[in-house]
Amino acid sequence: MSRKPIIAGNWKMNLLRSEAKELFEGIKSFVKDYTAPQLPTVVIAPTFTSLCEVSSVKCDCGCGGNKIYVAAQNCHWENSGAYTGEISVAMAKDAGCDYIIIGHSERRQYFSETDEMINKKAKAILAGGLIPIICCGETLGQREAGMTDEHIASQIRAALSGISSEDVAKSVIAYEPIWAIGTGKTCDSAEANRVIKMIRSVVEEVAGSNAADSIRILYGGSVKPSTIEEQMAQSDIDGALVGGASLKADSFNEIIANTMKVAV
Ligand code: PEP
Repeated sequence: MSRKPIIAGNWKMNLLRSEAKELFEGIKSFVKDYTAPQLPTVVIAPTFTSLCEVSSVKCDCGCGGNKIYVAAQNCHWENSGAYTGEISVAMAKDAGCDYIIIGHSERRQYFSETDEMINKKAKAILAGGLIPIICCGETLGQREAGMTDEHIASQIRAALSGISSEDVAKSVIAYEPIWAIGTGKTCDSAEANRVIKMIRSVVEEVAGSNAADSIRILYGGSVKPSTIEEQMAQSDIDGALVGGASLKADSFNEIIANTMKVAV
């Protein structure tokens, strides 16, 4: 089964609106030279304050149908109400998003997000017609204690609980070993592929083989232009969630270019 690769940039809490727009334009001017079948699905996740800024320029690039999709970095599961500081799926959609990242390890670690909250967010995103990018990953301690597979499997089972097979098939998972995020240490590609295969087997167990074949599972953790070819050459890695290297047009565009050498 061939799955269209995704290269997603997570800008985290960086860039003012003007800077976000400039970076977005730099990516847009690169992708416009490629046609849709060649190009991976490109997704950019700016801060909430820049969502409208980048969405307003995403579709007018005259690139013959190529589109850069926009993602929010988080959302609440309720439609509206007294949840100070949060945004709903409908608000993200209204700001031009097609995807929403949930369960990033930074949200789990610094904002105490639980598996149950991530499951509610995934359901709300799918009900709202958007696509969740569900992050999972182990700490160094868990890896050293031999608990990687058990931990990730339990995160995935919880995140997908009660979601239909059709909706699971549309979703995206990002496997991001926490010790590899922002550290410059990339997980060995064969090992990342092994964990991603294990995630696919958990998806098969909870949602069936069609969903397991269709769901796109990305690797994240210090992805760079120099690592992406080897990562994309693996059987089960369907793309990358990129943090640091997505903050410069040159490096992000090179990641897209190197992905096209291997895999689209
Ligand atoms: C991330 O935050 O999702 C990430 C993978 O960051 P980096 O690429 O900087 O490790």
